[in-house]
Amino acid sequence: MNRLLIIGPPGAGKGTQAVKIAEKLNIPAISTGDIFRKNIKEETELGKEAKSYIDSGNLVPDSVTNRMVRSRLAEADAAEGFLLDGYPRNPAQVTELDAILSDMGQQVDKVLLLVADNDELVQRLLARAAKEGRSDDNEEVIRHRLKVYAEETQPLISLYSQRGLVTEIDGLGEIEEVTSRIMAALA
Ligand code: ADP
Repeated sequence: MNRLLIIGPPGAGKGTQAVKIAEKLNIPAISTGDIFRKNIKEETELGKEAKSYIDSGNLVPDSVTNRMVRSRLAEADAAEGFLLDGYPRNPAQVTELDAILSDMGQQVDKVLLLVADNDELVQRLLARAAKEGRSDDNEEVIRHRLKVYAEETQPLISLYSQRGLVTEIDGLGEIEEVTSRIMAALA
């Protein structure tokens, strides 16, 4: 089954790959970062709650994020599978995702771990900052996001590895090349 997670540090290319893979598998790519940014742009209540955390490179509180993910996964298009990008991001969110899925009689089928070295990550994020102007893509916040990833998200790798779900993918190279590696890993 296609209930998939993609995990990796900021700048590894998760969002880019998630969209391509989801399209090939005919499942929705669900990015918590994108949902937050859309809500900030539209100045919704959720957006107002999330903005200060995002701009400083911290995680949005679990109470807010968990509720949002639960309601998104209940939508019809996710019934047959999904590719979650940016969630879970700490051990408590893993527990919540387990609960959400078990309420629906489901579980995570595979975790794609997209890796790249730190220098490459910082280079990519600075390049994106220049192009897209994301509010959390300046050097100081980038460093903080990498630290938050190392401290809060990296522990998820061993957690999911213990379940035998993790496949590591090299995120260096052309976008298409990385997509092929992921598709091969899913085959
Ligand atoms: P990145 O390129 O850093 O992986 P994302 O677009 O995935 O960026 O996320 C941007 C920001 O949105 C994060 O730094 C965080 O503030 C917030 N965010 C996204 N997903 C989560 C989550 N699962 N829990 C808490 N905050 C989140």
